[in-house]
Amino acid sequence: MALGLKKNDTIVVVSGNEKGKRGRVLSVQRGNNRIVVEKLNMIKRHMKPSKKYQQGGIIEKEGSIHLSNVMLVCTKCDKSTRIGQKILENGKKVRECRKCGEVID
Ligand SMILES: [Zn+2]
Repeated sequence: MALGLKKNDTIVVVSGNEKGKRGRVLSVQRGNNRIVVEKLNMIKRHMKPSKKYQQGGIIEKEGSIHLSNVMLVCTKCDKSTRIGQKILENGKKVRECRKCGEVID
């Protein structure tokens, strides 16, 4: 589980149809442990014409992905990693890469 993910993190999908694909986290739904990732898990929705979609028709939109299906990609070592926690000297909690030890925050 990629707990501790934040908006704008880069993740890689580790299971399912889109395994191996990477993307940027657009939003995190803390309540149900799901995230929305840019251009991943696209779903088609049939829209009735409305103010926002004047034509109506089919639009493609990112569907949410469960945290258990993704891992964080470390910006330093470029590997998928579990997120570690580190406490700095000033008492601040930060995330760290379990692979290379780089602080991610
Ligand atoms: Zn790393």
